[in-house]
Amino acid sequence: MTIWNLGSINADHVYAVPHIPTPGETLAATALNHGLGGKGTNMSVAAARAGARVAHLGAVGADGGWMIERLEGYGVDCTHVQRREGSSGHAIIAVDAQAENAITLWPGANREIDLDAVKQALDGAVAGDLLVTQNETNGQVEAAAQARARGLTVAYAAAPFAGEAVRAVMPHLDLLVLNEVEARQLSEALGTSMEELPVPNVVVTLGAAGCDWIETATGTRHHVDAPKVRAVDTTGAGDTFTGYLLAGLSEGLPMPRALELAARAGALKVGRHGAADAIPSREEVEAARF
Ligand code: ATP
Repeated sequence: MTIWNLGSINADHVYAVPHIPTPGETLAATALNHGLGGKGTNMSVAAARAGARVAHLGAVGADGGWMIERLEGYGVDCTHVQRREGSSGHAIIAVDAQAENAITLWPGANREIDLDAVKQALDGAVAGDLLVTQNETNGQVEAAAQARARGLTVAYAAAPFAGEAVRAVMPHLDLLVLNEVEARQLSEALGTSMEELPVPNVVVTLGAAGCDWIETATGTRHHVDAPKVRAVDTTGAGDTFTGYLLAGLSEGLPMPRALELAARAGALKVGRHGAADAIPSREEVEAARF
């Protein structure tokens, strides 16, 4: 079983700052790190590190060769990653001493994905495979519809949040993952509760408080606690969580077990600095004592 991920591939430039700059403020950073990031990348790496077979669908610019190499180094199949002439996606990330972050994103090639090529790639998918997508590329709705028509399970992480994007993709989803802020925004945009969404499974992540899984057919809400850890950098926590959750589901784990696995992986991630490169391996997640 393969996890197909239509997702962003970014270069992350991470600046350690005393506090998140306020409007008009100029602030000297105390450290700078360049790494691999983007929600799509993070989810592919997380799912691959969890042991899943992952095929990434996305695009990089002329400067993106190193990103493909790094993704492949993590075991992600990049056969279907497209090359564009312009710049790859990149993010300027400020992280403060309390591990809060603020991110400026340049989408670049992530928004120039050729959807005919995505469709062709999905011709290689089989019923029972899983498609995941987020809101950092073009083509989510088309890919989700294609995948659904081929009998794939379709998951969507509603980040970065845009009400219209969620509304458009929702009819094609089996699983929607969003954080607490996004859940509130979606409720306000649609005027409904999470329990009333037309998606069978909704997972709301709650940071250090863990997550809620809502089975909308019955309106049942289940809570899963997060392990207690000291957070140093929450960048990519949600992506790590989602990648592990999907890997767990693709192995056939029942949702509560897959959520537990995801929560353990997310907790390990927040204890480390960085994005894709800081995502823990399955062995680390299994061995962790919290
Ligand atoms: P980000 O945007 O920073 O990647 P997010 O806002 O999408 O994250 P969160 O709800 O903050 O998502 O975190 C996702 C999951 O990661 C949580 O459900 C939890 O399991 C784990 N997690 C996040 N922060 C912590 C923490 N401080 N301690 C333990 N686990 C955490």
